[in-house]
Formats: sequence, C-alpha cells, structure tokens
Amino acid sequence: MIQTLVERQKHYFNSGETKPYAFRKSQLLQLQKMLKTFEAPILKALKFDLNKSEFEAYSSEILFLQNEINEHLNHLKQWMAPTKVKNPLTHTGTKSYILKEPYGATLVIAPWNYPVHLAIAPVIGALAAGNTVILKPSELTPTVSWVLKRMVETYFPPEYFTVVEGEKETTQQLIDQNMDYIFFTGSTSVGRQIMSQASNYLTPVTLELGGKSPAIVDSDANLKLAAKRITWGKFTNAGQTCIAPDYVYVHEDVKQRFLTLLSSYIESFYGHFPLQNPDYTRIVNKQHFDRLTEYLHEGTLIHGGQIDEINTTIEPTVLDDITWDAAIMKDEIFGPILPIMTFEHMDEVMADMDRQHKPLALYYFGEDETEQRRVTEGLSFGGGCINDTLYHVAHPRLPFGGVGNSGMGAYHGKASFDTFTHAKSITKQTTAFDQSFRYPGSKFGLALMKKWLD
Ligand code: NAD
Repeated sequence: MIQTLVERQKHYFNSGETKPYAFRKSQLLQLQKMLKTFEAPILKALKFDLNKSEFEAYSSEILFLQNEINEHLNHLKQWMAPTKVKNPLTHTGTKSYILKEPYGATLVIAPWNYPVHLAIAPVIGALAAGNTVILKPSELTPTVSWVLKRMVETYFPPEYFTVVEGEKETTQQLIDQNMDYIFFTGSTSVGRQIMSQASNYLTPVTLELGGKSPAIVDSDANLKLAAKRITWGKFTNAGQTCIAPDYVYVHEDVKQRFLTLLSSYIESFYGHFPLQNPDYTRIVNKQHFDRLTEYLHEGTLIHGGQIDEINTTIEPTVLDDITWDAAIMKDEIFGPILPIMTFEHMDEVMADMDRQHKPLALYYFGEDETEQRRVTEGLSFGGGCINDTLYHVAHPRLPFGGVGNSGMGAYHGKASFDTFTHAKSITKQTTAFDQSFRYPGSKFGLALMKKWLD
C-alpha cells in the first residue's frame, strides 16, 4: 500500500501539475482554509493529547502556521523566479541563471511536542516549492494525528498530499521507497538512523533535532526580564520544546536575586498550585514522566518538585547546585525542570560550551554589547536570542535549524522554500560565435591561463 502510494505521488509529480505558480498558490490557500475549518477539532485534539491550553494552541501552533502561509503567499512568485547571474569574462555571450526545481515526492516526519505546527510548517514549504508530500505524524499524539489525517484527506487528493499514520516501522518503510527528499523533526538519535537509512538511496535530508540549549544570565542582565522570559521559554508546553532553555548558567553575583524572581514569575504564570491549573500541559506519556521524575532527586530544590502521576504532570521545578556530573546534564531534559549552574567568569562558560555538542539554541542575557558579540559569535549553535528566549523561531525571515548534533538544514519562510527546492544552474550558450581559447592547442588560451595565474 505504501509502495503504491509513493508510486502514485511520483506519477502525479511527473505529470507536471504541481509546478505552475497558480497551482501552488491555490494549494496554499487550501491549506489555509483547511486549518481554519478544522480549528475546533485541532484545539480539542491538542487538549486531549497534551492538555494544551487554548492560549498555547493558538500562540504556538495555529497562529504560526497562518503567518507562515501568508509569508509564502506574499513572496512565492518572486522566490520561484529563475535567478539571473552575472557573467565572468570567460562566459561572454552566454546567459546564466538558476532554475528553482521541486525535488518530487517528499516525506515529512514529525514529532509530538507541537504536533500540528511541526507537521504542517514543513509541508507549507514543500507544497510551495511544487512537491508532493507524505506526512508521517507522531504516534505519541494519536488524536492529533487522527485529526491531521482527516483534515488532509478532506482537502487534498492522496497523490498530492496525504498523511500516513504509524510507528517507526512505517517510517522506515516510507524511507525505503526512495523518496526525493526527507524532512525529519525529532530526536538526535532517531535523526541519525533516518540519515543512515536515507543514505542507501542518497535521499537528501533536513534534520531538525534537539539538544541542550543553555540560557546564560550575566551580572549586568536585566534580571526581571531575564527571569520572566526564561520562565516563559522553559515552562511553555511544560518544557517540551526543542528550543526551550534546557538549563541556566547564572553569574554568582546575581544568582540569589535571579532565583527569587524566577519563583515569583512561575507563580504568576501558573499559580500556587500548577498541578491544579486546568491549563497546565501534561507530559506526553508515562515513559517520559518516569524519565523526568528521576531528575527531581538531584541538586537542591528551589521551586516546585510536586508531581501528579495519574495526570502525568510535573510542577515547574527549579534545581540549584547542579554540576555537569549530574544525570540531568547528560541528555536533553525536555520537561519542566530547570537546572541552575553558577559561574564567575564568562571564560569558564565558553570553555564548558565548547566541550558540549552544538546546541539548537542559545540565549544570552546581558547588556554589554562586547559580551553579547563574544558569546553569539564565539560559540557555535543553531540560533538564538540576546535578552530573550524562543522568539527567534517566530520570525518569518529568520532561517531556523540546528548545527552539528542539533541538526542540518533550515526552514521557515524563504528558507523553507529553498530547502524543498533544487537550485538548478543553467548556462545558455550563444551560437552566434564560438570563443576558441578553451579548445586544445589554442596559444591564446594558454597565454590567457598563464596570465590569470600570475
Ligand atoms: P523521535 O525522534 O522519537 O520521533 C520523531 C518521529 O520519528 C516520530 O514520527 C516517530 O514515529 C519517528 N520515529 C521514531 N523512531 C524512529 C525510528 N527508529 N525510525 C524511523 N522513525 C522513527 O522524537 P520525539 O520524541 O517525537 O520528539 C522529541 C525530540 O524532537 C526532542 O529531541 C526534540 O528536541 C526534538 N525536536 C526538535 C525540533 C526542531 O525543530 N529542531 C522540534 C521539536 C522537537
């Protein structure tokens, strides 16, 4: 069945129907309509699978997608146009340009933590670029996956865009169909397996992975805003955000004040009893809940620490006195537990960061522009913010992606279109004359080459 589906998509792509601008535009409008019509079921499914509040569902899933579609609709024609390039002397008489060619039948593999946003955002780029798409959502948020399947089959024919539900075996079967492009969002370990399997067919991949993203709070930071924005970035979606600050490195001179502020913002956002807050996101399943609760015994508890096993919720928790030896510092946390580490000199932080895998995001809080530059230019990471968290991801003109262990490739806005587009270079040679210097035996050619090398 999977084999037939991919064959149908390849056949449909080869018919050329997906390529014209008018078709692509109409499909983006369909996507927009689909999301609008299915807004209520999406909200219900997010509530059911993750207890995601309406506020978070709109702000981090639905609104992002509508903005992304608008950005594509506004610029698609211009992005699709062939790009002319200037000629060097050797190419006098030619016209050279880059055609924007869709790859063909693409596969989008999505995770569960923002199960609508992270499934549909790559699809926007893929369809805008003229491809067909098979979307494989996460099995850990089954209600959302079910809604995704229903809404896509209501608005799109399967030979163009369809949803295939299933577990890892289904994904592996899809990769084995020799897809033309694979866009994967998920963990670093699974990303490695996807790339390895895709290499059998030399299928190009984009890998949007995870990692431990630090927030650094320097002695001259605006502490109130640092605490507020870190609280927001860390505990949104109960910490199950790929670019959430995984841990905080705070300057020892401001640490106590920062911790007090952190506690007060947690209370102001989630109340005295977050576990009783009907809008507080749950941990996706018992396995992740158990993994996270193990960490609660580490360091010194500063805030939170309560858990609700039945609802798989964990209070926003702050743990002080954490070192790199702690188990919580070994892997990406991906939950509402924030370890705190202290530093005296930025050099120590930079040296520690250099020893770690390159993170997906990094957040620096401090007013001194020299230090801001030292951190953002001196360390390698996917992307990030100065004096904020998460906000870079919502900018339609900033490519989003990781580097090293946190991924390869990028998307959002034009970067999405470019990711799903092969840049095909063409030289249109003149037949009005023929420059002889490149042919064997040309004395003029030899003299010219020697002159260039001088
Ligand atoms: P995951 O890697 O377990 O699963 C992602 C997808 O891959 C799912 O659809 C799953 O069914 C499939 N899958 C799982 N194992 C597979 C295998 N062996 N072979 C083929 N397919 C397989 O990730 P997850 O738990 O759904 O998501 C959490 C992770 O994703 C975190 O590490 C997080 O940082 C990362 N993430 C990254 C981004 C980003 O944009 N960079 C966004 C969200 C999440």
